[in-house]
Amino acid sequence: MTMNQEIITGLVKKVIDELIMEKGPKREDLTGLVDTVDEEVENSVEAQKRLIEMSLERRCEIISSIRKAVLDNNEMLSALSIKETDFGRYEDKIRENILCATKTPGVEDIQPIALSGDHGLMLLEFAPVGVIGSLTPITNPTGTLIHNSISMIAAGNSVVFNPHPSARETSTRLVQILHQAVVDAGGPPGLVSSVREPNLETAREIVEHPKINMLVATGGRPVVNVVLRSGKKAIGAGAGNPPVVVDETANIRKAAQCIVDGATINNNIFCTCEKEVIAVDEVADSLIKFMQETGKAYLLTPEEAKKVTNLVVTPERKINIAYIGKNVQVILREVGVELGEEYRLAIFEAPKDHPLVWLEQMMPVMPIVRVKDIQEAIQFGVEVEQGNRHTALMHSTNVENMTAFARAVQTTIFVKNGPGYAGIGLGGEGHTSFTIAGPTGEGLTSARTFTRQRRCTLVESFRII
Ligand code: NAD
Repeated sequence: MTMNQEIITGLVKKVIDELIMEKGPKREDLTGLVDTVDEEVENSVEAQKRLIEMSLERRCEIISSIRKAVLDNNEMLSALSIKETDFGRYEDKIRENILCATKTPGVEDIQPIALSGDHGLMLLEFAPVGVIGSLTPITNPTGTLIHNSISMIAAGNSVVFNPHPSARETSTRLVQILHQAVVDAGGPPGLVSSVREPNLETAREIVEHPKINMLVATGGRPVVNVVLRSGKKAIGAGAGNPPVVVDETANIRKAAQCIVDGATINNNIFCTCEKEVIAVDEVADSLIKFMQETGKAYLLTPEEAKKVTNLVVTPERKINIAYIGKNVQVILREVGVELGEEYRLAIFEAPKDHPLVWLEQMMPVMPIVRVKDIQEAIQFGVEVEQGNRHTALMHSTNVENMTAFARAVQTTIFVKNGPGYAGIGLGGEGHTSFTIAGPTGEGLTSARTFTRQRRCTLVESFRII
C-alpha cells in the first residue's frame, strides 16, 4: 500500500467511525452509564431499534455473553455488594448470581405458538414492548439486574435501570459489565443502562417518561403502587412475608433442616425466605429440638427474645434497617450473647401478635408460633401472609392438608417439603426469577413476561395435513 493509499484508507475509516458514533451514543456513554434520564432514554430507544434489526442468533449471542460476563465477574460483584450494602453473605451472593446467570430463560422463552385448522394458520408471536424502566431493590442489587437484563433483552427490549441509591456502586458497576458484554457480542450500545446517580427523582422521571413503554418495580408495596398509578403497562413485584406451616405428619427432622437452610440463605434477605414458622402443638417441641440439632440455630431464652425484639423492631413497630441482612452473631452481640461462627439463625417461641410474625424482618431471627391443629395453622398462615400473594411453605406428608393450605393462601409460590429458595429454582425444578410479580399476577417473570402478543392469520393455506 502506498503512503497516499494508507492516508485515504485511514480517512475513510475515520469517517465511518464518526458515522457510527453519530448514530449510536456518544463515546463517553459507551459504559452504559449516563448523567440524565433523558439522555439514557434516547440512547435506549435507538439501541432497541437496532436490536430488533439484528438476527435472533445475534440476540442469543448477546445473552450468552451476559451470562459469561456475570460468571467471570461474580467474585468481584458479590464482594462489592456485601461491602456496599452490608446485607447478606458473600457465599450466598455467589450462589444468587450463578442462579440468575444460568437459570434465567433466554430467547427460547419467546417461542411463537402456531395453530393450524380448517381455516388456515394462526401464528402468535411474542414481540418486544420497547424500552422498559426497571426499579430495583437494595436487597438483590446483582440478582435482580442480572435476571431482568437477560429476560428483557431476550424478549427484544432495551432496559433503563434505576437501582436503589444505597446499592448505587454495585448496580452501576454491574450495568457497565452487562453493557460491555452486550457490545462485545456485537449488540448495540445503550441496550442496558443506568444513570450515574440514581435517586427518587430519576425514578420519578423514568416512571413519567413518555418514551418508556413498560415499568417494572421490584421492591416494597409503595414503589409497586407508584408504577401501577403511572398509566403505563406495569409489573409489580412486591414484598412478601412467607409463612412456613409444619403439621404433625411432616418428617420433622427434614423440616427443621429445610427451615434453617431456607431462612438463612443470604441472612434471610430474599423475599422468598421463610419469615415465620407455624407449628402444630404436637410437633412444635421436636421441631425446635431438631432445629437446634442442626448446629446452626440458637434458641433464645424468653428474656433474650425480648431484648432482640426491642433491638430489631423500632417503637413505631417497623424493622430497624440497621440489622437487616446481618449475621446472627452481629445481632446477638448487641444483646450480650456471643455465638460461634457455625450459627446462622436465632429462633424463639412467639405469641401470634408478636411484631416479627407480621413484619418482613429480612434477618436471621425466626419466630415460631405454636397452634392447636392444622386448621388453626392454615387460617393463621393465610392471615400473616397478609394478601401479598408472594410465597408460602409447608412441611407435611398429608396431601389433603397441603392442598388445603395451598388453596387458602393463594400465593405465587408454594413450596412443599423444601427450603424457600427451591421455589426460585435453587434445588427445585423450574427457572429462576428475581422479579416475582405477585401483585400484578405474572408470577416468576421471564422473557415472555416482557412482551406483547401479536397474531398473524393466514386464511385457507398452510395446513399440510
Ligand atoms: P424499596 O421499595 O425501598 O425500593 C425498591 C426500588 O424502588 C428502589 O430502586 C427505590 O429507589 C425505588 N423506590 C422506592 N420508593 C419509591 C418511590 N416512592 N418512587 C419511585 N421509586 C421508589 O425496596 P428495597 O428495600 O430496596 O427492597 C426490599 C423489598 O423488596 C422487600 O420488601 C422485598 O420483599 C422486596 N423484593 C421483592 C422481590 C420480588 O420479586 N417480589 C424481589 C426482591 C425484593
